[in-house]
Amino acid sequence: PYAAIGVEISVDTVSAVATDLAGERLLTWRRSFSGGDSVNQGMAGVGAIVRRVVGRMAKEERQVLGLAVAVPGLIDVQGTVRIAPNLGWRDADIGGDLTKALRDPGFPIQVDNDANLAALAEQRFGAHAGASDLIYLTGEMGVGAGIILDGRLRRGGRGHSGEIGHVQLDPDGPACHCGRHGCLEAMAGIGAVLRKDPSPAEIQVEIEEVVRLARSGDPESLSTLDSVGRSLGKGVSILANLLDPEVVILGGYYVPLAPWLLPAVHEELGHRVVAGGCHVVASTLGHDAAALGGAARVLDSVDSGRLPGGLSRIP
Ligand code: BGC
Ligand code: ZN
Repeated sequence: PYAAIGVEISVDTVSAVATDLAGERLLTWRRSFSGGDSVNQGMAGVGAIVRRVVGRMAKEERQVLGLAVAVPGLIDVQGTVRIAPNLGWRDADIGGDLTKALRDPGFPIQVDNDANLAALAEQRFGAHAGASDLIYLTGEMGVGAGIILDGRLRRGGRGHSGEIGHVQLDPDGPACHCGRHGCLEAMAGIGAVLRKDPSPAEIQVEIEEVVRLARSGDPESLSTLDSVGRSLGKGVSILANLLDPEVVILGGYYVPLAPWLLPAVHEELGHRVVAGGCHVVASTLGHDAAALGGAARVLDSVDSGRLPGGLSRIP
């Protein structure tokens, strides 16, 4: 039997998923990511995780067909990470680094944007599977869009489409890690929810605390979530006016926050989308949608008979 592996690098966690050829999960793994300071440190940790997953697959006598890694940043068509604003990475060949760390793994390694891979996961496994026009929005420190139109993931000329997180909503707005001001992600990313630049280790517990406070009706938390929801609604209205998706799926930390964000999002959409509103829902795939999407990308390569790296068909 075979396996496809997807790995997701976020600012605060690394997740790994292995699936069989039908896309059934064989293994799910998640741990905190401590390597944000340097690409080397970060990739050493990712390499260790991938080795363990590959080891487990070997034990189960499964041949790994490929690995796709989701990164929160701009990836060019060669798979090089150009800029990952919230990791501080630039021009990193993490596919090459991983190949070295795994000492010639014997299967192809692909690198892709996190939102792109999560959109592929939604298209294949999500509640709106099969939708031909679907946009996934990542709700992490950063905000990114994975855009599927007419059934296909749209990457743009250089592979950098979907950077809605760096569309400027307010020239006088807060600083963004990309070096600009008032970007959507500075106003509607997790930093805006927490109203500070959190350290990666704090993000998960602090979001849980925001959910607890919102549930208890804490006015300050409710007002922050309302204003984040409004900014998010402005961002989604740009996508809706431009691309007219059937559905926009909110992922990452937006999922637990959705009950408080969605009313404000919909109100903004009602005012701003000329065709009238837009269907916006929370993802049902779980926090590792991009890792699952990595496996989906490997399976897509198998389906299309185009396994990268020389494997042209399943033996
Ligand atoms: C990055 C995107 C990424 C998003 C979500 C943004 O800061 O520029 O490439 O998809 O964060 O992680
Ligand atoms: Zn920015």
